[in-house]
Amino acid sequence: MTLYCATTNPGKLAEFRLAVGHFPGAVSIEPVPGLREIPPPEETGATFEENAIAKAVYYSHRAPGPLFADDSGLAVDALDGAPGILSARFAGPDATDERNNRLLLDRLSGVADRAARFVCVVALADRGELIRTFHGVVEGVLTHSPRGSNGFGYDPLFFFPPFGCTLAEVGSDRKMTVSHRGKALASMLGFLLDRRP
Ligand code: IMP
Repeated sequence: MTLYCATTNPGKLAEFRLAVGHFPGAVSIEPVPGLREIPPPEETGATFEENAIAKAVYYSHRAPGPLFADDSGLAVDALDGAPGILSARFAGPDATDERNNRLLLDRLSGVADRAARFVCVVALADRGELIRTFHGVVEGVLTHSPRGSNGFGYDPLFFFPPFGCTLAEVGSDRKMTVSHRGKALASMLGFLLDRRP
């Protein structure tokens, strides 16, 4: 089965492909044909779920088969859930991962409660119709400085207690066994494979 994916984020695409590697031969993931030329939809939803659904339904008109899109981000307790759906643009419209991380450390300067979670919602759609959404969460603690060079986004600041290190200090394969994205994707793959005739 080919599943189309609506992301231009190379970190996410690599992680999605790793996750389907655990279902050998069953599913291959391909980006939507010509994705970079398709004007992106505005992300106007108030929740991860609304944004994931909007992206999946929008791009599924351009895919020759079932397509999924994800919306994900970091929710920090001490910041009342921020940056949340604005995680990619926390430091502004042209933010880089490095600037986002620096801003997050600034906002948490002197803050003792460093609990945070990554949240991911994957929406599955086919030719304009939403099929279902799938959710994943991973709980962690934010460090006081970046550690590790794997992964992307806020991984260097996200300490995962069961591993005893940040998610940027492990390989993507190990990260996907516990991550919000890995859980949401595994749940979608289980659903799709169960439905197979
Ligand atoms: P999206 O492309 O709108 O879903 O934005 C997701 C943003 O949330 C990314 O650009 C990262 O800043 C952050 N994010 C989501 N998932 C992860 C992850 O697995 N590791 C680190 N940062 C993440």
